[in-house]
Amino acid sequence: MSLTFPQSKSLKQKRLSISNMQHFPAFIDLASRRTVILGGGEAALAKARLVIAAGGKPVAIAPQFDEALRDALDGDAELLEAAPVRADVADAALVFIALPDDAAATRWARIAKAEGALVNVVDRPELCDFQTPAIVDRGRLTIAISSAGAGPVFARAIREKIEALIPARADALLGLAARYRETVKAKISAPSRRRFWENFFKGPIAARALAGDDRGANDLALAAVNRFDADEEQGVVHIVGAGPGDPDLLTLRALRLIQSADVILFDRLVSDDILNLARRDAERVFVGKAKSDHAVPQDEIEARMIAFARAGKTVVRLKGGDPFVFGRGGEEQDALRAAGIDVFVTPGITAATGCAAAASLPLTHRDDAQAVTFVTGHGKGDADPALDWTALAALKNTLVVYMGVSKAGVIAARLIDHGRAPSTPAAIIENGTRADQVIVKGTLGSLSALVDEANIKGPALLVIGEVAARADGVGLVDVAARAKRAA
Ligand code: SAH
Repeated sequence: MSLTFPQSKSLKQKRLSISNMQHFPAFIDLASRRTVILGGGEAALAKARLVIAAGGKPVAIAPQFDEALRDALDGDAELLEAAPVRADVADAALVFIALPDDAAATRWARIAKAEGALVNVVDRPELCDFQTPAIVDRGRLTIAISSAGAGPVFARAIREKIEALIPARADALLGLAARYRETVKAKISAPSRRRFWENFFKGPIAARALAGDDRGANDLALAAVNRFDADEEQGVVHIVGAGPGDPDLLTLRALRLIQSADVILFDRLVSDDILNLARRDAERVFVGKAKSDHAVPQDEIEARMIAFARAGKTVVRLKGGDPFVFGRGGEEQDALRAAGIDVFVTPGITAATGCAAAASLPLTHRDDAQAVTFVTGHGKGDADPALDWTALAALKNTLVVYMGVSKAGVIAARLIDHGRAPSTPAAIIENGTRADQVIVKGTLGSLSALVDEANIKGPALLVIGEVAARADGVGLVDVAARAKRAA
């Protein structure tokens, strides 16, 4: 008796309508297969390299080999210097045909197919059984991208985007996972296993492995397998520098972490363009502080991070610029460590280097500046900044002042008192690297007046020293003209 399932046809049709792949994607183990390359030139070399990179040992066959091919493949491939014969392609799993003569390529494609091989003919898609995709090669993690021959350039562009998303040490992490796979299977029951692996790949174990701490990652993994409790997994906090505002200036790691975060705690200085990179379902928590208006006190920010991490979340603490440059990143790191939370720091482009680049202003320069100093212009309460003015006033030093706008007058006066000439070039860069960037150029003597006239409201840096004379770029303002317009 045969059973029929009346719905099966419509199911099949439905499936077909969702996907429309032109080829079947598969990853082939070449280690135990014969792979043959017909040809002795550059194209043959490229195919041979690919096969070798994937763990195969190709047999290249040609009446004559290029010197370059011979040198490059020495030892990694078998080279047969002879006209190919039918027996050469018998038993081959894959045959690459890289022959200059079109007729010969067609003939060999037919022969190899008849012998049961899958065939790839260079630049002849109509003769190919399979195509070589654009490849992201990170060891165990391999991603192949095909456009079915319609747009190899497009496929490569996509590959570049994907490359940027994959941590450089992904293979180390996967190696660690591979080592524990059997043990995890034996020790942790199926429903919790998924949770275990989610924590493994998102939490402190992955963070360590990806940061190059293989031993630390292994120790944690071992401990995690041994005392896994599905309800008690602790999260991790990443303190991440968001750079000066332009999202293009994020590090690749920062981008990845932002996209993987369950919760993001962010400051006023973090731009919307950057926050928009987060997952749609990520929780966004504003913990910003305007200078005079401490919206969320520091200890409360720390307490919230600790609570989120204890609830098993992947937390990203996103800070403008670099978290360790006038960013209280150190304090947050200490608080998290004291609470027993795993914490990792990802650097960012600090305002000084970001703004300098955006204003074409080299912070050091062989002729003009042999040192650069970053200081905060923000004193305790309303007090003047307590700085070593003599050292800062030294010649050939570029001085970059963070949070210095409201104290610009005092800072200029002290530097002049301690010997820096009033004619020393100075620049103010407001909203550096952002669409609304403003660069104001003048002298130390006029610094305070420049701040007033330019009506600086956004985050701004003061740059004082000979190099400031070079400031130029988007948003350069003629202060006199702007003041006139505002009046
Ligand atoms: N951690 C940050 C600095 C925080 S202190 C960093 O590494 O950049 C805040 C000060 O940084 C602001 O008062 C301002 O002086 C400076 N700043 C931050 N972003 C800036 C930007 N896009 N343009 C100009 N100055 C900026």
